Amino acid sequence: MQIHLDHPYVPFAIETVRQAVFLARDIQTELVSTSLSKEDKSPVTVTDFAVQALISCLLERAFPKSALVAEEDSSILRRPESEAVLRKVVRFVGRYAAYATPETVCAWLDRGGGEPKGGFWVLDPIDGTKGFLRGGHFAIALAYVEDGNVQLGVLGCPKLSADGKNAVSGEGAIAAAVRGAGAWISPLSDSSARSALRVSSCSVEREARVLRSVESSHTNEEKFEELLRALDVTLPPICMDSQSKYVVLASGHAELLFRLPSRQQPNYRECIWDQAAGALVVEEAGGRITDLYGRPLDFSAGRRLNNNVGILASNGILHERALAVVQRIYGNA
Ligand code: AMP
Ligand code: MG
Repeated sequence: MQIHLDHPYVPFAIETVRQAVFLARDIQTELVSTSLSKEDKSPVTVTDFAVQALISCLLERAFPKSALVAEEDSSILRRPESEAVLRKVVRFVGRYAAYATPETVCAWLDRGGGEPKGGFWVLDPIDGTKGFLRGGHFAIALAYVEDGNVQLGVLGCPKLSADGKNAVSGEGAIAAAVRGAGAWISPLSDSSARSALRVSSCSVEREARVLRSVESSHTNEEKFEELLRALDVTLPPICMDSQSKYVVLASGHAELLFRLPSRQQPNYRECIWDQAAGALVVEEAGGRITDLYGRPLDFSAGRRLNNNVGILASNGILHERALAVVQRIYGNA
């Protein structure tokens, strides 16, 4: 099924992500900045679970038959020692969804164990959890995939500026894309104010602005530096957490993005919820996204991109030249 701009999934996904961003912000304000140290992982846990439970609940109410593939499940929350965390999750979800109880919240979470087959929704409730804890970028990523193709992608990015710039503390933005119908961005506060997303027209490698993860364990820093040298890039890389990077690329504020398998986990395969929404936003803004071998991303291979290795995203113009450099550096890539 091709999704059109006037399909009910489109406003549903945008408004659902928007509400979920407000929920995540509530938790961040009330748990992260008040009571808990930065090392404490529980705000992340509460937020991951709360956002997934809310989105799953709203999806069930709007489209009861739809399948959801999402990162979390309720197994940890159902343990006796998690009772306090579960209570917090229920309290926060209850602000946005009626009938939130420990039982309904766990059931909503477990709807995320759907089969990644045919038509399904895919959700990363908090992408960039480390950024979330540091007060950096994070994203709520919701996409609809049909027969291996992402048809609709929405990214809620609470820290970006409304035009997709990597601000220190932006007012927040929502980026959305519909296959064949373009990509656009709205301020978090007003989803009716849409601006089309368009990648940059930079065609000179050495002027490229290059995006990478903040976390060194999510990339291969030596290879990344080698790539920058081989491309003769002069500007320092832009380090950001989460799929917010894809919005920076799609809005013309960067030209290249590399995800290189780390030395510690050379066989790492990307989770589909970490890439689906962002990949469509980039493509519909005129950019290109492939793996490091130049292959299209294959969303029909389960919960991970099992047929792809790493990611190269670009403004399109620089893609082939960047791939050639990757090939040289990786030898057989
Ligand atoms: P980023 O914020 O771009 O570093 O990406 C965050 C995502 O990276 C998380 O949602 C994780 O699912 C994913 N991730 C976890 N471990 C790795 C790894 N070894 N290599 C690449 N990505 C990873
Ligand atoms: Mg993630």
